[in-house]
Amino acid sequence: MVKHTFIVEHLDPELEEWQILEYNAIASECSATNAEFLLTGLANSKDFQGKLEIPASNLIEQSVETLYASPEAKQRVCLLDPRGEADISPEDADKFDVFLFGGILGDHPPRDRTGELRRFGFPGRRLGAKQMTTDTAARVTRIVVQEKKKLDEIDYVDYPDIEIPTEGGGSAESVNMPFRYVKGQDGKSIMPKGMLDLLAADADKGIADLLA
Ligand code: SAM
Repeated sequence: MVKHTFIVEHLDPELEEWQILEYNAIASECSATNAEFLLTGLANSKDFQGKLEIPASNLIEQSVETLYASPEAKQRVCLLDPRGEADISPEDADKFDVFLFGGILGDHPPRDRTGELRRFGFPGRRLGAKQMTTDTAARVTRIVVQEKKKLDEIDYVDYPDIEIPTEGGGSAESVNMPFRYVKGQDGKSIMPKGMLDLLAADADKGIADLLA
């Protein structure tokens, strides 16, 4: 199988807790499936070391714009873009070496921050019309280009209400996540390890704050 590189360009000034969980999930799934994972565009990569379960050599200060500067190099980089020219398909596994994602929190309604990467001129592919979290977008891309499944052959969970366990086992709160997720074998949406605990810790603040 061709070894692909999955890149998340970090577009936020800070590194939030939820991003750590998402980036660790992408890194772990890439390493389990013989893909390389790079986190690029880090203003000061030393600040990120120790917070992430990602080797320091894969934390890159340069932007993808610099790493893939020539027109030829750009053509081998696929930007996963909700406004891309076509949906991704298994054939894209051979057309591209690199799959690039925006390291940004999903917002509702979407503000098109992926446009910050689109302006570099990479060919774009959609993952369907529904917004996904960055780790879900990477997961779906991996299933399409490595497992060679079409987008409509993947099982999803859309906009799930997530039950948040409360301290002392009281009645659970529920938080609506306005994203599309991959359905796991247990029928629930696949989320990064630790995300439920983070949602529980943030339940007081409310999802509105979390998404701000
Ligand atoms: N609201 C966002 C925006 O402003 O563009 C979408 C951010 S999404 C949480 C993070 C990244 O996942 C995007 O930059 C994109 O690379 C990828 N992504 C999420 N949903 C996608 C979709 N339906 N099609 C293509 N890429 C998607």
